[in-house]
Amino acid sequence: MLLPLLFYCLPLSLAYQRGEYRIGGLFHDRTQEAAFQVITDELNTNPNSSFDLVADTFGVSYSDTFVARLGACRLLENGVIGIFGPSSQHSSPYIQAICDHKEIPHLETHWDDKIERNKCVVNLHPHPGVIARFLVQLVQRFGWERMVVLFEDDDSLLRTAPLLDLNIYHGVNIILRQLELDESQSYRGVLNAIKSSEETNLLLDCSVETLGKVLKQAQQVGLMTDRYRYIVTSLDVGVLDLTDFQYSGVNLTGIWLFDPSHPKATKYEDAMLDALGLPAESLWKMKLSTALLLDGVRLFYETIGEFGDTQSELLSTQSLSCDGTKYWRFGYTIVNTIKAKKFQGITGQIQFDNEGFRRNFVLEVVELTPAGLSVVGQWNSSVGELKVDRSRVRVHQEPAIANPFNRTFTVITTLTAPYAMLKETTAQLTGNDRFEGFCVDVIQELSAMLGFNYTFIIQADGANGDLNRITYEWNGMIREIIDGNADLAIADLTITSERENAVDFTMPFMNLGISVLYRKPEPVPPSLFMFTSPFSTSVWVMLGVAYLLVSFAIFIMGRLSPSEWTNPFPCVEEPEYLINQFSIRNSLWFTIGALMQQGSELAPISVSTRTASGFWWFFVLIMVSSYTANLAAFLTVETLVTPFKNIDELARQDEIKYGAKKKGSTEYFFRDSNLSTYKRVWEFMSKHPEVQVSDNDEGVRRVEQENYAYLMESTTIEYVTQRHCSLAQVGGLLDDKGYGIAMKKFSPYRNDLSTAILKLQESGRLTQLKIKWWKEKRGGSTCGTKKEEAEATALDLKNVGGVFLVLFVGSMVALAGSLIESAVFVYRRCKTSNTTFGEELKKEFRFILHFKRQVKVVK
Ligand code: GLU
Repeated sequence: MLLPLLFYCLPLSLAYQRGEYRIGGLFHDRTQEAAFQVITDELNTNPNSSFDLVADTFGVSYSDTFVARLGACRLLENGVIGIFGPSSQHSSPYIQAICDHKEIPHLETHWDDKIERNKCVVNLHPHPGVIARFLVQLVQRFGWERMVVLFEDDDSLLRTAPLLDLNIYHGVNIILRQLELDESQSYRGVLNAIKSSEETNLLLDCSVETLGKVLKQAQQVGLMTDRYRYIVTSLDVGVLDLTDFQYSGVNLTGIWLFDPSHPKATKYEDAMLDALGLPAESLWKMKLSTALLLDGVRLFYETIGEFGDTQSELLSTQSLSCDGTKYWRFGYTIVNTIKAKKFQGITGQIQFDNEGFRRNFVLEVVELTPAGLSVVGQWNSSVGELKVDRSRVRVHQEPAIANPFNRTFTVITTLTAPYAMLKETTAQLTGNDRFEGFCVDVIQELSAMLGFNYTFIIQADGANGDLNRITYEWNGMIREIIDGNADLAIADLTITSERENAVDFTMPFMNLGISVLYRKPEPVPPSLFMFTSPFSTSVWVMLGVAYLLVSFAIFIMGRLSPSEWTNPFPCVEEPEYLINQFSIRNSLWFTIGALMQQGSELAPISVSTRTASGFWWFFVLIMVSSYTANLAAFLTVETLVTPFKNIDELARQDEIKYGAKKKGSTEYFFRDSNLSTYKRVWEFMSKHPEVQVSDNDEGVRRVEQENYAYLMESTTIEYVTQRHCSLAQVGGLLDDKGYGIAMKKFSPYRNDLSTAILKLQESGRLTQLKIKWWKEKRGGSTCGTKKEEAEATALDLKNVGGVFLVLFVGSMVALAGSLIESAVFVYRRCKTSNTTFGEELKKEFRFILHFKRQVKVVK
């Protein structure tokens, strides 16, 4: 019964039997051993693999070379095809020699300063020489002129030796000090000595365990304050709990190859705790050596997997004896394949050069902030260039706690009038006395309120600070703040979102917007037809229409009103016919005579024609007075013309060039705007770099001397137009923003400074200072006193529409009156002539509308 089943299952089980490769580990540390097992177990769960790994480990001690050699020989006898470890500078060369001899790949994960490698070895740890190159750049970047290098032991001294280049080539003063334990088994002795030496820049090279102790003791002796700047070289800085120091304000910069809190690393946490036999809730963070070992085993596994069909041959590994001559034929092939591979591991991209040194890896720069360690930059070993991008710093919400009282701040500013200027004096001045200006006074006021001291320094290139979007590096004052060379930056420094990512700002101490500085409008020469200017074209047209209509209305009314038909021969008592003075020609003459204020011999007789004439004369009176008054304004006021009235018009023309300050927030406003007008402005400015200026003075000079408009901030325009009388602001403000005081990200002083600024604002002190520096000092109010003359503008229909309306209503009333007069007359006549009223009225109207009949026959 079981036999057929056996026959059926046997080939199946043979087909799915996976081969086994034995890999060996020489470890002096339990964590490494556990990691080796964890990763092997994980890889063996891969259902698609045709082989399994068998982890064979041998415990060695750090310094016992003999045991290490013994362990390696034991592993070879067991038939391993690769050896990992040991992490010891001392025994590693012996193992390398054995592996070379037996052609067994040897994967190292510890730092090794040798510059030559045996053929069978690859090291996943970056070479210390390459890391030192990066540290040199970092120190230069920080602009340190002096520093203390604290090293732990001989290895550490070896690692930091290349930093002496900083002294040889860049003149950095370096003091080397060993982290020696004093009688109380602490580092406080060394740290106290540093404290009394007044050195503030420290580079710490020690193991991560020592680093934790050193930082704690540094805090105890008062070395963990914002006065001190640390660079820690341990790539394991991420495993330390730095919560005790994150609010101290200390400037601590570290480097790492990977973030131990990243899920790539934390996913092994449970398995590792289990393998180490630690309780599940224990705090454990992966160190670099563990991460490198995990990466190494995975890399080895993937490399073997690539051999596919030839695997059966590879499986022919046998036990090798250290003393025999037999070796494994495939060792070099595997090592060379590993060297040619590109692999993405926990520690980033893993690639090797021909010698088996890791290349093309990325080191991240981390800074201690109140939110913990934050990545602020990167350094790629193959590019060799440090890129800092502070916008990636995590935002911290907790309130700042520290008092500016009795602190001394270095305040950086630019020499931009009227914010900060050199005093104009023949006396020899030093220190803060050399400067004056609005911002200098603001800092003086703040220091009096908050009790801090300050020293002004000047940003030599006058740059406020902009971000290079390729290298993510800041320049100008913002850079100085980031690098810690200044504590506060004050100037015409606009608060922008990009800057706010890199530094902190106080509340704005001044509000402003972008506008245009251009030459004042010039008077136009009087024109030949200036007499037409008081009325707009529509008023002239309406005046003509009113003249014609009123003349015609008077003509009609004249014919309608019986009293307007008069006896041509007064001596003849019963005339045969009557005549009417308001012929069409006379009507036109009568109204024009009134309009020209000359009158005519015609005198209206009937009530209706008199009413109409009255309204016409009233209309004429108002129109003529308005004309005369406005003409006087046109004759006395100069008409000024501006080639453009706002940014839209400026953007639409190309005769006048326009630009802004290079690398200033004004330029970036246009660069980042989505509005079509501003986009057009930016297009023009970027196509014509020559229109950009390096400072406001150059911009103002160009406006005065060339056909050039300068886009600048309204506060500075106000200052300039007070002193340069030929210049004026054109148009309104394009945006709304403010100047603030910048300081390091998460600075604990921000709240105090902001509150003090608000108080200065509320008390009116800031307004007083503005009046002082804008209107009083250094030629203020030179041009500002002359009141701008009102411009004369033509009267439009909306100005005189009312009088037209009165005329219209009056004429209608008069017309109605004349109709009534005519009807009464007809009524009386029909009574005497025995005809009906309707017939008489029809006859009368027919006669009236027969305009050619100038005489009326008396019946
Ligand atoms: N306030 C500007 C800035 O902070 C400089 C002047 C300007 O761009 O107009 O960059």
